[in-house]
Amino acid sequence: MNDVSAHFHQVEMKPKDFRSEIDPVWCAGCGHYGILSGIYRAMSELGLDPNYTVNISGIGCSSRTPYFVKSYQMHTLHGRAGAVATGTQLARPDLAVIVTGGDGDGFSIGGGHMPHLARKNVNMSYVMMDNRIYGLTKGQVSPTSRKEMKAYTTPYGGVEEPLDPVLYMLTYGATYVGQAFAGNPKMCARLIKGALEHRGFAFVNIFSQCPTFNTIDTANYFKDLVVDVEEEIDLGDVMSAMNRVQQMNHEGKLAVGLLHQSHRATLDEEMSRLIAQVGGNADYDLQTIIDDSRP
Ligand code: SF4
Ligand code: MG
Repeated sequence: MNDVSAHFHQVEMKPKDFRSEIDPVWCAGCGHYGILSGIYRAMSELGLDPNYTVNISGIGCSSRTPYFVKSYQMHTLHGRAGAVATGTQLARPDLAVIVTGGDGDGFSIGGGHMPHLARKNVNMSYVMMDNRIYGLTKGQVSPTSRKEMKAYTTPYGGVEEPLDPVLYMLTYGATYVGQAFAGNPKMCARLIKGALEHRGFAFVNIFSQCPTFNTIDTANYFKDLVVDVEEEIDLGDVMSAMNRVQQMNHEGKLAVGLLHQSHRATLDEEMSRLIAQVGGNADYDLQTIIDDSRP
């Protein structure tokens, strides 16, 4: 594990100190409250300085999260949070970059961006608030919805198999992959904290109930199925994680815990290396690249 003090500005703040002046507007019983509490706790334990932290989101109920966190915030376009976060991280590698968003925003509208965040190993923490539905637009199936789900877009049940977020991210080379349930904010906090400490693309998928529009993936449904498999996995071996997750899926269970962690150069490190190699400033300098690319 990296020493966070080596790459983040730190302050002493309690979890409640990370609340912004805006109160969450989510429905009563929404799982996102548990995740938000995990974010506050992780930020407090790491002592992340809000002046050097940026929360970025796309569109959706979960994408409102940056409003509720004391830090810099960008509420961007639907599905584009990862792309904006990539630019932010390259321009300001001294910031802690957190993306919060939902399953529809990330894997449908923004589906084209997700594999590239992983393969490029962009140094950011992506917290996926996975309620298997579009909540903000009032209940349409998303890429993680169960096939049998009936929603406004599937009144007779769905015809498409769901996507598994952690298998997807493991396949594309994310260097930190975890999964949790919103009903366990302690585990959410531990995995988000680990994601922030990790140098590279860190992805945490968090099952989150939407009692207003998803009546089948309830808090009790998730609670009964989650199994902490962290101790059973060789964290450095991606195949170990994939096999265990697939086995759990086959048994109708949901694997949670830290599933994978490995280390390789991040995108900003590769850019710095390249600039040094071609005789530029070894410190990453976006302007140098822009100037050099002009005809
Ligand atoms: Fe949460 Fe669903 Fe309400 Fe959105 S619609 S705030 S996801 S419960
Ligand atoms: Mg959703």
